[in-house]
Amino acid sequence: MQAHILGFPRIGAARELKFALESYWAGKSDRAALEQTGRDLRARHWAQQQAAGLDFVTVGDFAFYDQVLNTSALFGAIPARFRDHGHTVGTSKEVDLDTLFLMARGRTPCGCDAPAAEMTKWFDTNYHYLVPELTVDQAFALSSQRLFDEVREAQALGHSVKAVLLGPVSYLWLSKAYGEDFDRLSLLDRLLPIYVEIINRLADLGVSWLQIDEPILSLDLPLAWQAAIESAFNRLQTRRINLLLATYFAPLADNLWLATRLPVAGLHIDVTRSGDEWRQVLDNLSEYKVLSLGLIDARNIWRADLARLSEIARTAHDRLGDRLWIASSASLQHVPVDLAGETELAPGTRQWLAFAVQKLSEVALLKRAVLEPQAAEVIAALNAASEALQDRADTAWRVNPAVSQRIATLTPQDAERVPFALRAPLQQRKLNLPLLPTTTIGSFPQTAEIRHARAAYKAGHLGASEYAHAMRAFIAESVQVQEDLGLDVLVHGEPERNDMVEYFGELLDGFLFTRNGWVQSYGSRCVKPPIIAGDVSRPEAMTVAWAKFAQSLTKRPMKGMLTGPVTILCWSFLRDDVSRETIAQQIALAIRDEVCDLEKAGISIIQIDEPAFREGLPLRKSAQADYWRWAVNAFRLSASGVRDETQIHTHMCYSEFNDCIAQIAAMDADVITIETARSAMELLTVFNEFEYPNAIGPGVYDIHSPRVPQADAMAHLLSEALKRIPAERLWVNPDCGLKTRGWPEVKAALAEMVSATQRMRAELLVEA
Ligand code: GLN
Ligand code: ZN
Repeated sequence: MQAHILGFPRIGAARELKFALESYWAGKSDRAALEQTGRDLRARHWAQQQAAGLDFVTVGDFAFYDQVLNTSALFGAIPARFRDHGHTVGTSKEVDLDTLFLMARGRTPCGCDAPAAEMTKWFDTNYHYLVPELTVDQAFALSSQRLFDEVREAQALGHSVKAVLLGPVSYLWLSKAYGEDFDRLSLLDRLLPIYVEIINRLADLGVSWLQIDEPILSLDLPLAWQAAIESAFNRLQTRRINLLLATYFAPLADNLWLATRLPVAGLHIDVTRSGDEWRQVLDNLSEYKVLSLGLIDARNIWRADLARLSEIARTAHDRLGDRLWIASSASLQHVPVDLAGETELAPGTRQWLAFAVQKLSEVALLKRAVLEPQAAEVIAALNAASEALQDRADTAWRVNPAVSQRIATLTPQDAERVPFALRAPLQQRKLNLPLLPTTTIGSFPQTAEIRHARAAYKAGHLGASEYAHAMRAFIAESVQVQEDLGLDVLVHGEPERNDMVEYFGELLDGFLFTRNGWVQSYGSRCVKPPIIAGDVSRPEAMTVAWAKFAQSLTKRPMKGMLTGPVTILCWSFLRDDVSRETIAQQIALAIRDEVCDLEKAGISIIQIDEPAFREGLPLRKSAQADYWRWAVNAFRLSASGVRDETQIHTHMCYSEFNDCIAQIAAMDADVITIETARSAMELLTVFNEFEYPNAIGPGVYDIHSPRVPQADAMAHLLSEALKRIPAERLWVNPDCGLKTRGWPEVKAALAEMVSATQRMRAELLVEA
């Protein structure tokens, strides 16, 4: 019986990898220093796995940028535009680190550049991977020694190694066909020999287990892809190494039969996300096979209920004996590294939590709970975990009876407004906006001064009134800029917000915050999700004073700016004792009260941002309708407390929206501003089939590029938009908030946007 994890966060407890990468990219340190940081982190993380009592260390989970990108390097799947920069060196054809950075970031420290590869979300997580670009004539060749070097590195440190590699069919599924369109599965025959080569190399190194991840087994797969998995693993059958097929994030459902009968030495399943399915897996597993039960939650930060989980482990052990393995549910890369770094947690809450390092011990402990249930240490650990759980359940501040009472008395009317067709004329009478109103998404450049003022205030070096004074100055400055540009609907610019979720979390009750709870989002970027630990409620108004001040500076309408309930939910770690639906309702009510307070304070347009609206969608289709029901309802609940003449906006970005336009329409916002410019208004094609009923502002320029867009290009996009959206319902705005840009480019870009709008208005007048 073995205890192991599927992978460990590589970023480092103090984000060492982030700082080493950024220093290398900035040319401030050399390659040797970066490689040394990588070696140090791997050595530390392996030592932690060993010290915790795991039977293997996992090797192959480290990446300087991204594990899928590493896999592409391993296979030599490097698109032409990234080769020939002199970074793919020598006859060994080893893919160099700078080539990976070129693919990920579009540039290298030495000045090479090329359009970066596309990045997208890893299943239903907040981690982004680099999408492999494959062509119809794609060739593969083993092109990186890193995996083997790391295996040797771990062995030299005296560890017993299990290697990990993304599986061939998931790799193809996650890739994109470039150039001529073709069936990506046609590349499988060319890819499998590389896997055979890797397996042989690992076996030569004395590695006995290779974990092959096929996370797509948790998706609803087309038949051809199911068949491809079957044929791939039949062909990978080997006596040279033991293959552990790993699945995670959702139930196997109709892939269960397939997954259990593949000719591999072991199967890993995610017990935290698949209810009782483990029992069915037990019934279907072949006699010789190992079953790795992913019992410790790799997607959340709560300390495990070891007593309950050890029951599952014992039941499985009765059937399997030593063929049972205990594991984390998935790679731990989705949780923060170490609770030891948390010095300022709310009193009494530390014992409720477990980060990656703590989860290593939980995995090891579950194994001991099966093998030595009577050991004093085991009994003590199980009891301590149960007591912590009980303590969390009993903690008074987590429970707010007023919140549950309010939810119990909600009626469908609370999430209804009168039809858009009736609201719209009332809003127009009140707002008196020109045709094609111009606006922005909310934030303006977060300058060094703004960040310094916020940091000084947080650290206690700046008093509350000085801070407010400084923020008001920033607001006044951005209002002046917007008036000068001639924008129609203004924003206050969000100088007081560090992050659109953390800002509200800190003002709401029910949240916990970490100091160092960083999770890698992509490359060197990390996020620090707040923890929703109890009932969410709003002790007092959160944004009204800033909004009121901003409105006092202008006669034009000032948009109130809030983050929506679904986005706050998606970007937080969630409590595990109530449903996501309930949490969403609680946040929605808090936001609803803020919306109503803004209205009372004289704000007549309120934007409720929902960039993460699509992200919360479950992987399995069977669970999706229920998600849409409660997610749409939560948004409507937050938005429907206002009078008919108050205009509600929402904003969405960087997601696939074409497949959920009906649900977006069901949110019934008066206006949606939505990202489109990056894909040259690809979104608009959906309006050929679906008539979006309310007003919409498809972003006319990509704020992620430092290039100043030209009025001509924007006018062209607007005329394309006008073919599908009537002028009375079309707004003009950038793709997203402007906080990452500098003022000069923002002013220049918005001036072009206003001029494009004026040109379009003139054309519309001529036509009329
Ligand atoms: N209002 C936010 C901003 O402008 C929206 C951010 C987002 O869409 N992610 O920054
Ligand atoms: Zn956005």
